[in-house]
Amino acid sequence: MSKSVLAIGGHIGDMDLTAGPTLAKLVLEGASATIVALTYGERGHPRVSPEEYKVQKIAEGAAFAAGIGADFRVLDYSDGFLPDNDEAAMQVASIIRETTPDTIITHWKRSIHRDHEHAARIAERGRFLASLPIDHELPRHSVQRFLYAENWEDAEGFEPSLYVTIPDEGFELWAKAIQGQAFARGETYGFRYIDYYTALMTMRGCLAGQKRACAFADTSSPATVLAGP
Ligand SMILES: [Zn+2]
Repeated sequence: MSKSVLAIGGHIGDMDLTAGPTLAKLVLEGASATIVALTYGERGHPRVSPEEYKVQKIAEGAAFAAGIGADFRVLDYSDGFLPDNDEAAMQVASIIRETTPDTIITHWKRSIHRDHEHAARIAERGRFLASLPIDHELPRHSVQRFLYAENWEDAEGFEPSLYVTIPDEGFELWAKAIQGQAFARGETYGFRYIDYYTALMTMRGCLAGQKRACAFADTSSPATVLAGP
């Protein structure tokens, strides 16, 4: 499916949960994967200060990525205040030029979190800016495929159109790595993220005729790939 994939999330942990099993599978198949969080997600703990939780989140995000064989980056934006602007999109475009993914995975466009909606728009704009012939130290790069991950927080209007089979080995890598994140274990606001996404993979697997699957909305069109050197 993919040789190089870039997952772009609003907060550390978002793509780990929603795209993580697919990234683990692709890495097992020989692809390179990078997870970029646009904010730290440092305001997501009711009892730990943002300063302290930020340090924890960075360690958790790095450990998760290492656990599934992906690279990890986080941009220096503040949880809850991710701007939807060209500066952020240019930062993402530079990462796209550097990592040359054939596939981007990000949030669905409608969400209960503004940071998630902004992340989707920044990812789209970043993809466009990466493909433009503008003054940049790295050559332009067009990303063929743009996928939106399934996330209960980004459910409004989400219609899956692509099912990715998750083999046992990929699932187990993900299941072990995601245990390292406090919020996923339900220790912050109590939502049982790991149970939810594990059950979702089973449900989507039923629909796809597989043991487990992850669903994506794939709105990619060849018309959006710019031609030229
Ligand atoms: Zn989030």
